[in-house]
Amino acid sequence: MSIWLQGFQKNTKQNKLEKKQTDICIIGGGIAGMSVAFALKDSDYNILLIDKGTIGFGATAYTTAKISYLQELPYSKITSMHGEDSAKRYFESQKEAFDLIADYIDHYQINCDYEKVREYILATKEKQVSKLKKEEQYLKNWKIPYITIEAIPLPISIQYGLGVEGAVFHPLKYIYGLKKIIENKITICENVCAKEIQKKNDQYFITTDMGIIEATYVVVCTHYPFFIKPGYIPLKTHVEKSYVIASKTKKSLPLSCITTGLPMHSIRYHENYLLYGSYAHALTNHLDDGKNFEHLKIRFQNHFQTKIDCMWFNQDMISNDGLPFIGEIEKGSHLFLATAFQTWGMTNGVLAGQVIADIIQKGTSPYEDLFAIKRGWNLMRSIHFLVDGVRYGKIYLQTTLIKNPKFYQNHVCVAYENGIRVGIYIDENGVRHKVLNTCPHMKCHLIFNEQEKTWDCPCHSSRFDIDGNVIRGPSSYSIRIDF
Ligand SMILES: Cc1cc2nc3c(=O)[nH]c(=O)nc-3n(C[C@H](O)[C@H](O)[C@H](O)COP(=O)(O)OP(=O)(O)OC[C@H]3O[C@@H](n4cnc5c(N)ncnc54)[C@H](O)[C@@H]3O)c2cc1C
Repeated sequence: MSIWLQGFQKNTKQNKLEKKQTDICIIGGGIAGMSVAFALKDSDYNILLIDKGTIGFGATAYTTAKISYLQELPYSKITSMHGEDSAKRYFESQKEAFDLIADYIDHYQINCDYEKVREYILATKEKQVSKLKKEEQYLKNWKIPYITIEAIPLPISIQYGLGVEGAVFHPLKYIYGLKKIIENKITICENVCAKEIQKKNDQYFITTDMGIIEATYVVVCTHYPFFIKPGYIPLKTHVEKSYVIASKTKKSLPLSCITTGLPMHSIRYHENYLLYGSYAHALTNHLDDGKNFEHLKIRFQNHFQTKIDCMWFNQDMISNDGLPFIGEIEKGSHLFLATAFQTWGMTNGVLAGQVIADIIQKGTSPYEDLFAIKRGWNLMRSIHFLVDGVRYGKIYLQTTLIKNPKFYQNHVCVAYENGIRVGIYIDENGVRHKVLNTCPHMKCHLIFNEQEKTWDCPCHSSRFDIDGNVIRGPSSYSIRIDF
């Protein structure tokens, strides 16, 4: 469990969906969905927000919650794919979100442990220094105040570093702060799962497990969209997984940092905890989570000789052209999406609120074209698309053709019964838990996560418990075998 969930209760009540007709239906109550709701709270629209679980308990509860506009080496990457003008606009968008968060917290007195810190991007190896200096050039060109360093008071040796203003907060306290402000203006329904969206005569009909909701505007903020088209997000993104350690420390420093290149070290402090993130990899690689946690522990203990209090992992979506997808899926469609935050969802989630509220209320946003869901392809994007294709091919071979691969341990097996692929987990009491072994989202074969006792999709990150219930999407359907 992540430290952010301490003191927060999961809502287990089966909500009644009282409101089935609304102007705007927001699906998903993580930082993105709650930011959209917050940005629209003073409008005249009737707004309903639904979440298939508890507000804030998705990816947002497993982040390290650094608020940053210097996100590793974003500006060189975006320049190489879209040109320097787009990179500069990305910077402006992130800076705007950075300032918005500070303003909201100040104006509404949101008690969320917000703290301004110095944020560093660090090169630990000589060969990364030139990349960092290239990034520095953008800071210089755009007159962003920064400092340079050659040492840092952490047990990590560095060659060079850039420091800018940064901030950190408690993501769940922030989300629940927003909830308190909006809940008398916006209807929030937890434990309502959206399964399909259909359009008839300019109205949307959202099929949920609690009935059908009719809405004029639909905003999908489910982290990974639960549908493939429109938008075709699975073809434009891959999922990245990384791991976080929380360790109690006597001394916390007013800094946060991330290193460029590998191995990645991401550090921040929260009260008496040191948070250490590392071991980022494409979801399709390194399938054995037990081993992944072991790697992380060793890496952490090589640098910090302190006790580990808890560990968790998180997943985020990476677009194959370095920019998130935020906005209307098609101009005038009234169907919106906010996803692929590139592991920087605190700024991008808040920005999504602003962009989508602007388009709904004013018809346009200054960032509409930059984050357009239907933006064009370029060479780099095509290369990334092919790389992702090879990754998926590899996963298909590993999960389909290799008999007894190592990610099925001895008390798990996968078999065909009457032509249907099933996964069977035998628990410590000898009880057999049988589920379908194919993900309902895009038919990838599921692997057993020995560490957490779940069935995980190695392609698009859906997760299911041993009895087949959905833990996280994109799949909104279970893999239960109900006889
Ligand atoms: C290890 C790690 C560390 C990170 N650290 C940082 C950081 O320091 N700073 C930063 O800016 N970003 C960070 N990120 C990224 C950030 O955590 C995410 O980008 C962000 O939390 C995503 O927010 P979201 O609102 O899109 O998704 P979520 O928080 O997952 O919210 C989506 C919500 O939608 C609901 N939902 C899903 N499907 C349905 C459905 N069918 N019907 C109804 N509801 C549904 C879910 O229950 C969930 O509550 C990190 C990511 C990783 C992997």
